[in-house]
Amino acid sequence: MASATVVVVFDFDKTIIDCDSDDWVVNQLGLRDVFELLLPTMQWNLLMGRMMSVLHSRGKSIEAIAECLRRAPVDPHVIEAIKTAYSLGCELRVVSDANLFFIETILKHHGLLECFSEINTNPSYVDEEGRLRILPCHDFTISSHGCSLCPANMCKGKIIDRIRSTSSTEGKKRFIYLGDGKGDYCPSLKLNQGDFVMPRKNYPLWNLILGNRQLLKAEVHEWSNGEELKLILLQLINRAIDGGNYRTPTQVLSVDCKHVPVAVSGAEDRPIPLRIPQ
Ligand SMILES: [Mg+2]
Ligand SMILES: [Zn+2]
Repeated sequence: MASATVVVVFDFDKTIIDCDSDDWVVNQLGLRDVFELLLPTMQWNLLMGRMMSVLHSRGKSIEAIAECLRRAPVDPHVIEAIKTAYSLGCELRVVSDANLFFIETILKHHGLLECFSEINTNPSYVDEEGRLRILPCHDFTISSHGCSLCPANMCKGKIIDRIRSTSSTEGKKRFIYLGDGKGDYCPSLKLNQGDFVMPRKNYPLWNLILGNRQLLKAEVHEWSNGEELKLILLQLINRAIDGGNYRTPTQVLSVDCKHVPVAVSGAEDRPIPLRIPQ
């Protein structure tokens, strides 16, 4: 029986799905020009809300947006990883700077929605005119969340703190956090010894971690694609359930479960090309 509950926290964009859902919708529904025009003047989260109004004014229905989202690329290994983690009794959560409609539509399409106990993201709803409204997770027009690492509308680290505090009465929990972006750095810093962070290799989170490895208490395990994500995540779950006694099988790929090197010169926060099927 599990000696500790394992909480697996997934970022969504470029972690569960293999693209950024905002970029996907902007590109697929012909919003790129107006998006780029407004980007210098607006906070990202508010800009996505504006884009939904533009779609509505162009006669695009909610169903057209949903249909577009259902075509977003998801690696089948990631789907298997999530279903297996759920079947092993892990508590699964999404912590994402996308929005609830985008995330629920995609998770439901792939039969994954019921695997997650909570989705922490920017709220959204369909208004009386049939327009998708996107709101900030943290209302920065009222007060700042006070974290300089995170965007004004969401501090993922504060969400991790809340998850930990609400579950502390139920005994020890071990966290596994998977992500790729800058916004995943703050929550990674909140992890404790005995927790794991899985940064996507060559993406901003991975570069930030390499920049000062000593700042993290959690063990670091990089991954590059869905197949590696699945292998490594399931190994870490086994270790966490087993209280750390799990031994890495000798037959696993050499890239798995290796600690990220302490320092790599020239690691920089550069944009990485995405594999987005057109
Ligand atoms: Mg991401
Ligand atoms: Zn933060």
